[in-house]
Amino acid sequence: MLADAIRKGALRVLDFALPPRCPGCGIIMPEVHSFCPDCWKQLDFLGTGGCETCGLPLEFTGSSVCAACLAQPPRIARTRAAVAYGELSRGLAIRLKYGRKVGVAKTMARYMAALVGDGDSRLLVAVPLHRTRLWLRGFNQSALVARELSRRLSIPADPFALSRTRRTPPLKGMSAPQRRKAVAGAFKVRGRSAVEGKTVILVDDVLTTGSTAEACARTLKRAGAARVELVSWARVVRPTQLMR
Ligand SMILES: [Zn+2]
Ligand SMILES: [Zn+2]
Repeated sequence: MLADAIRKGALRVLDFALPPRCPGCGIIMPEVHSFCPDCWKQLDFLGTGGCETCGLPLEFTGSSVCAACLAQPPRIARTRAAVAYGELSRGLAIRLKYGRKVGVAKTMARYMAALVGDGDSRLLVAVPLHRTRLWLRGFNQSALVARELSRRLSIPADPFALSRTRRTPPLKGMSAPQRRKAVAGAFKVRGRSAVEGKTVILVDDVLTTGSTAEACARTLKRAGAARVELVSWARVVRPTQLMR
């Protein structure tokens, strides 16, 4: 028993003393939160290019904003994601979601930090979970990333500014109007003073259709937020939207 306890204790110590590992495959790396060359190749970094508003690739028109954003400006003034949603980026998101891995949140924040826009009165706000889910999981994975971004960029994060007032169904397979309806009115701002006049930077782990984030933005703007931006770890993009 004693030997067992010592072994366990030793393992715990080792946990801290271990060299940094690639967040993708686990091989030992010289630097913390960096991907090995093999994993790096599997990740599609989306960068800061593309449409100034939605971040998706632009057609060669000379405009800095895409036709879709010009026709109907989204409530989110600036959307950026670190990588395209794929096997490796999905694996990281899953480990963050179900494992409460602070190291994963730190890795994501490292690659997301450069995508956060400049400006004054910025506030980081994670896309909230409903309290039932929060209670079941014990934490909001996006809030972990928001906290790490806050540390890295010295921008305040407010984990209570926005909440989800009702459970929303999975949006997968729904049409755009159905999605909008499903998430309409599902969010609430704690109080106007929390967001009034601020540039709120929404933080999400995976960006799919953007309907949830748009609903958040609507609520935030109604409560007086001056501007809403969004930064996420991974984004679902069509293969043709990748700039390789
Ligand atoms: Zn690797
Ligand atoms: Zn656009």
